[in-house]
Amino acid sequence: MDKKTQNIDRTTEDGLCTSCGVCAAVCPVSCIRFERQEETYLPVIDYDKCIRCGKCLRVCPGYSYTYSAVTERKPVCFSVQAKEKKLLKHASSGGLVTAMVQKLLRDGQYHTAFLVRDYDYENQLETQSVRDGEILQRTQQSRYLPVSQEKAVRFILGNPDEKVIFVGTGCAVHGLCNALKEAGRSRENILVLGLFCDQTMTYSIYEYLKRLKRWNSPVKALHFRDKRAGGWPGNIRMEFQNGTHVHLPANERMMVKEFCRQKRCLYCMDKLNAAADLSVGDNYTKKDDSAEGSSSLIIRTASGQRAWEYCQEEFFVSQAQYLDIADSQHLEKKLENQWRNNLVFAQAQNGRQVEYGVPCDLLPYGAAADKAGNRDKARLKKQLRKLRLGENRSYGRIRWYHTVKRARMDLGRLLIVLHLRKKS
Ligand SMILES: Cc1cc2nc3c(=O)[nH]c(=O)nc-3n(C[C@H](O)[C@H](O)[C@H](O)COP(=O)(O)OP(=O)(O)OC[C@H]3O[C@@H](n4cnc5c(N)ncnc54)[C@H](O)[C@@H]3O)c2cc1C
Ligand code: SF4
Ligand code: SF4
Ligand code: SF4
Repeated sequence: MDKKTQNIDRTTEDGLCTSCGVCAAVCPVSCIRFERQEETYLPVIDYDKCIRCGKCLRVCPGYSYTYSAVTERKPVCFSVQAKEKKLLKHASSGGLVTAMVQKLLRDGQYHTAFLVRDYDYENQLETQSVRDGEILQRTQQSRYLPVSQEKAVRFILGNPDEKVIFVGTGCAVHGLCNALKEAGRSRENILVLGLFCDQTMTYSIYEYLKRLKRWNSPVKALHFRDKRAGGWPGNIRMEFQNGTHVHLPANERMMVKEFCRQKRCLYCMDKLNAAADLSVGDNYTKKDDSAEGSSSLIIRTASGQRAWEYCQEEFFVSQAQYLDIADSQHLEKKLENQWRNNLVFAQAQNGRQVEYGVPCDLLPYGAAADKAGNRDKARLKKQLRKLRLGENRSYGRIRWYHTVKRARMDLGRLLIVLHLRKKS
């Protein structure tokens, strides 16, 4: 192998980096730094310092993706909503993450939690240590952009006796698991709260919203989903430096997300965060849901069960079924599509996946002999073409795409109405 194939240059070259920061946290000579490139932050190696140990690639969830390293038991599921009103109002869903973190830190069950603070997207997003007594309100809500977990993983590896709560999307959790495995460490002192995750966008969504209109003042904070803007599931709230704010329909985000998502997400098979102790998402099951929002909770491990039992008094709780959650998250369709993308990727890699590749761990899902067809290739190509528009900030073309799409839908509706009228 040449020097590139043994380190995370391989991930970035293949467009599989999710900016999780785990490589930088494990590098023994601290020679990885992050640089803004196009619309995302990517790791860059200082080759004068690099000792070619390959550790960064071994832990990287862009490639070393351990989908099967998962559950201890059949998942038990609930729909939950935090009893604390203020906390619920500021949460993305039912406030499960924040209410649990608050309780576990306050009672000294865990020493620290790593959470995203604030809503400022001018710099690289990262999780930071939060301890008991710190206001958790400004950590709440989902950031649909890549978040670096470098500090969290570095802290966990350097402080084996500290009890830490780790919150992250599936790929970040896989990165943490890889780093622990590499260090020969168990998960005993770590509680992993895994967020369901359909996709993460690059910073192009932020740039797009900044340019959507001529705002009177620079953006101070962006809330992708805020219940103050129309209740759950929440619309966009932008706050400006002159103290004003606007609310925009969630559709402004939904319309552009296929142009702004991270490439890696096209291959991701772990929407429900299968390697977490507790997986959390929005409750879309239409059972025990609420205008204020509630969370779907999947308990996956014994330590997850213990933490949940310790905190459950903080919530209104009702039993839920795993299959209902999976259905409400359109899991089957998602897995099928992603699997087909993985096949195309594997074929294009000429067998490299045998060693590391994204699909190598996914064999239980589909037959090894399954081959990508022309339709699969064309679909992935179309998806990648759209991502390039986002990368190149071709916002005019993206808006034009939507104008045409909307016009087509309106025309379709009109034709149906005319047809029905004619019939009656
Ligand atoms: C990128 C992304 C995609 C998601 N996709 C789905 C989906 O398809 N379906 C679904 O049901 N749910 C999805 N979720 C999860 C959902 O939006 C809520 O985050 C989850 O239900 C927790 O809500 P809560 O009310 O319990 O947490 P809150 O009380 O609102 O707290 C959220 C916590 O998550 C942390 N956080 C926010 N964003 C990130 C991030 N990117 N990385 C690490 N930590 C973060 C915050 O610091 C905070 O501590 C997604 C979340 C993210 C971040
Ligand atoms: S470890 Fe994370 S940040 Fe580093 S290359 Fe892999 S995906 Fe990117
Ligand atoms: S190969 Fe080793 S030394 Fe070089 S960047 Fe990766 S982890 Fe650091
Ligand atoms: S969809 Fe998968 S790869 Fe993309 S951010 Fe979410 S967990 Fe990571």
